[in-house]
Amino acid sequence: MEKGVCFTGIPSAEELAKAPGVPARSEMNKGPVAVIECVQEIPCNPCEAACPSGAITVGSDITKLPVLDAEKCIGCGNCLAHCPGLAITLVNVNYSETEAAVSFPFEYLPLPKVGDEVNAVNRGGEAVCKGNVLSVRMPQSYKQTCIVTIAIPKKYVEDVRSMELPIKRALPEPAAKKEIDKSSLICRCEELTQADIEKAIEEGATTLDGVKKHSRAGMGLCQGKSCERLVARIIAEKTGQKVENLLPATHRPPVRPIRLKVVDDDADIE
Ligand code: SF4
Ligand code: SF4
Repeated sequence: MEKGVCFTGIPSAEELAKAPGVPARSEMNKGPVAVIECVQEIPCNPCEAACPSGAITVGSDITKLPVLDAEKCIGCGNCLAHCPGLAITLVNVNYSETEAAVSFPFEYLPLPKVGDEVNAVNRGGEAVCKGNVLSVRMPQSYKQTCIVTIAIPKKYVEDVRSMELPIKRALPEPAAKKEIDKSSLICRCEELTQADIEKAIEEGATTLDGVKKHSRAGMGLCQGKSCERLVARIIAEKTGQKVENLLPATHRPPVRPIRLKVVDDDADIE
């Protein structure tokens, strides 16, 4: 299977190596620092405004990846709870002689308690090692998301990014299948609803490229980064195909609008 966040939901090593929000290990060794594992160019930037020290820059083109200036990061952790993608952790490599501390957003109940021993997990949710809960806090600036900090053996600091639920909960009974609201927005850039995507499929489109050509889903500013997985699920449901067998749609540059002045110096409008 192809690797990368578009295919598995988990950023690959290559994507992380290129992400401008991930500090070099030499920067991590200096003290607590944000690790921004944001690898998709989607329209999003709350991390930038959440940083009190100007360490994060997205800029006016909000589809750009956040850039971290590790020198400016004071390790406050503000950006963690403000990221809707839960893509940011705070890493303190030198928490103690043998342990590192990793802080991450945690949006499940029950919350752990300080002193609990938990299973620390990697980006894919697989248990990596044991961790001890050092703190559990609700940031004043964003009270909906809890920030948990755990201590783990230093050697796992590159892998651990969250923890398992403190207790296993019984899975709820499967809910009766809900009627899907056909007016739900699927492609935000082109303002296409569930009904629009289904119509494209009913008219014969059975692939992501086919739906794109019929409806323009994925042709907008984000180039399908927000809607592609949703469209794939709708195609799979309506045609009986497996999501993992659907090929990604072709991306065709230029992918962003440019000002007329760029192509014509004499253009009267910007
Ligand atoms: S941890 Fe604090 S200082 Fe560092 S990038 Fe996040 S908000 Fe900015
Ligand atoms: S808030 Fe999170 S998802 Fe949005 S740009 Fe910043 S790091 Fe990426």
